[in-house]
Amino acid sequence: MRLSTRSRYSIRALLDILMNGGGVRPVPLSKVAERQEVSEKYLEQLFIILKKAHIVKAARGVKGGYILAKRPEEIYLGDILRLTELDVTPVKCTECDRMDRCICKVCWDNLGKIITNFIDSITLSDINQMSITMDERKGPIEDLTTIELKEEIKRLKRERDAVILVHNYQRPEIQEIADYLGDSLALSRLASKLPQSIIVFCGVKFMAESAKVLSPEKTVLLPRLDAGCPMADMITAEELKEMKKEYPKAKVVCYVNTSADVKAESDICCTSANAVKAVKSLKSKRIIFVPDKNLANYVAEQTKKEIISWHGYCYVHEFITLSDIKEQKRLHPDARVMVHPETRPEVVKVADYVLGTMGMVNLAKKSIIKEFIVGTEEGLVHRLGKENPGKKFYLPSRKPICSNMKKTHLEDLYYSLRDLKFKIEIDKTIIKKAKRALKKMIAIK
Ligand code: SF4
Repeated sequence: MRLSTRSRYSIRALLDILMNGGGVRPVPLSKVAERQEVSEKYLEQLFIILKKAHIVKAARGVKGGYILAKRPEEIYLGDILRLTELDVTPVKCTECDRMDRCICKVCWDNLGKIITNFIDSITLSDINQMSITMDERKGPIEDLTTIELKEEIKRLKRERDAVILVHNYQRPEIQEIADYLGDSLALSRLASKLPQSIIVFCGVKFMAESAKVLSPEKTVLLPRLDAGCPMADMITAEELKEMKKEYPKAKVVCYVNTSADVKAESDICCTSANAVKAVKSLKSKRIIFVPDKNLANYVAEQTKKEIISWHGYCYVHEFITLSDIKEQKRLHPDARVMVHPETRPEVVKVADYVLGTMGMVNLAKKSIIKEFIVGTEEGLVHRLGKENPGKKFYLPSRKPICSNMKKTHLEDLYYSLRDLKFKIEIDKTIIKKAKRALKKMIAIK
């Protein structure tokens, strides 16, 4: 597959807008054309297509130009290529009269799937990051094989007295090297009980922060400092303070997917597994629930409390549609549907099970059901498949992939252990207040 200038220029222009507008300031197309040495007229034509597809939006006026219409983590390479290329299929078997007899058909079909999976897992944010980290990756490990690199990581881990905690959504090779694999809370709780003085958290920032809050005396490392959670970033402590002013009698429940600052402003923290219990544990009838609107909606349906929600959401789970689940159900009629409560209400409604990631892991292990449609981030399916070899797990056709969860590579883990980076530091007062909210949640039976 050779990409046309349409897609190459589109990606360059979008990256230019991200780099120069920071995702918030409109960037004039004339400037993009100048920097990227492309004709402005040509870019105008491409931006008509990108605007129609809600990838960019135009801002009029003196400071006019274009701005990204979504977060860079929500703009997939696959979507751009499908808009700007006529076809991304490497070989079109349907156009060949040997289709039924061709000995290569399986190969071309698989190649097509690999290409689709790849382009649907790369976001504009990843492309941006690739250029930034390209130089960092060069160095002593450049010539190592994956096996040697894994050995080096294990050696460094022993030398440093470190333990590697890995979230269920991480890349398979990171899951394989984990000392412990699990969801964010189970891992943070575990971290405080482990004897090692250094915790390397392969996940996203709020998870490493929770580990630090629960074990402030330990060194907590996050191999990729840019691995954030867009949903956690959707609310700040200041915004929560404003909400509290508006509803002074309400108590605050925050999802574990929040920054330490937001946790510090909350009465109790919760996970997707104990959100209902956390809400019920409070006496107040009115509850502020942040930041996930879908989880808030799920909780509101399970309790008699008045839930005041925030407008946050996880873009990975939000993209799982009802039609996609129905289509999987049509393809696999014997499969049961298990979805994460971060999915949309209409998806939750048709699910047989609504569970957090560890709930899914336990159900798959204990149940006699042999086939599941899994409505959560694709990384979990690697674990489910490995732990349940006789069972089948199907994802929605448009794989739910969290680009932040996929940022950590073996090289990042190596550098993290070698250079002790990136250390999570949190203000002592925030630790004290956030710990109170986390401990209250841990105390829930
Ligand atoms: S899967 Fe969703 S909630 Fe989890 S880190 Fe990614 S964006 Fe955040």
